[in-house]
Amino acid sequence: MKEQIETLIQLQRIEKERAALQTQIAEIPRREQALDEQLGAAEDEITRKKERIDEVRKQYRAFESDVRANQDRIDKSRARLGTIKTNKEYQAMLKEIEELRKKNSKIEDEMLDFLDQIEAAEGEAASEKEKHDRLKAETDGLKKILREEADDASRRMGQLDLHWRQVSEAIDPALLKRFQMVREKVGPVTLAPVSNAVCGGCNLNIPHQLFNELQRFDSLKYCPHCQRLIFWEKPLEENNG
Ligand SMILES: [Zn+2]
Repeated sequence: MKEQIETLIQLQRIEKERAALQTQIAEIPRREQALDEQLGAAEDEITRKKERIDEVRKQYRAFESDVRANQDRIDKSRARLGTIKTNKEYQAMLKEIEELRKKNSKIEDEMLDFLDQIEAAEGEAASEKEKHDRLKAETDGLKKILREEADDASRRMGQLDLHWRQVSEAIDPALLKRFQMVREKVGPVTLAPVSNAVCGGCNLNIPHQLFNELQRFDSLKYCPHCQRLIFWEKPLEENNG
């Protein structure tokens, strides 16, 4: 019986490692997604900067065409100056030309300001792009590691499954069935060690009589509190001695 219990403990250890690997594998897509989201945010930032640049450039081009249109009107008016007969009309046209010139001068000042804005936005976009490229390289590296992690974990799980089958063959089928039935009820910790009459599954004291029986290793008992299968765990000093 003692050997059977030890084999069950071994089986439970395999199951525990397998469950941990399964959790690790299950978390990989979430970790990949987090990396993708981070990279996506960096890409969005670049797009926003580019949109800003386009917007300012578009406004700059609109100013350019305003200036051109005003200049055309100035040129035409100047050409007509010589054909004007009355002084009053002449003065009116000079006034119009002067106003257009002022308007253009004001627009050109604004255009200089816009050129500064474009230059600044291009600088920001370039540094965002650099940041993004660094992050992309980092993300690719981390994803590769995650894939390797997943492969390693799957491989290890395959080994554990094989090992589980081999180990379980040494267990009496009725006992194995009992073990599996208890596991259905209590979860992954099916078999709990008892030391100093305390159940390792629920941390409650088990009756003295039961503790004495456990120490004989002649049968597998149930914890009266949590219904786990329990076995006696020898104190360390006795193991070493
Ligand atoms: Zn218990």
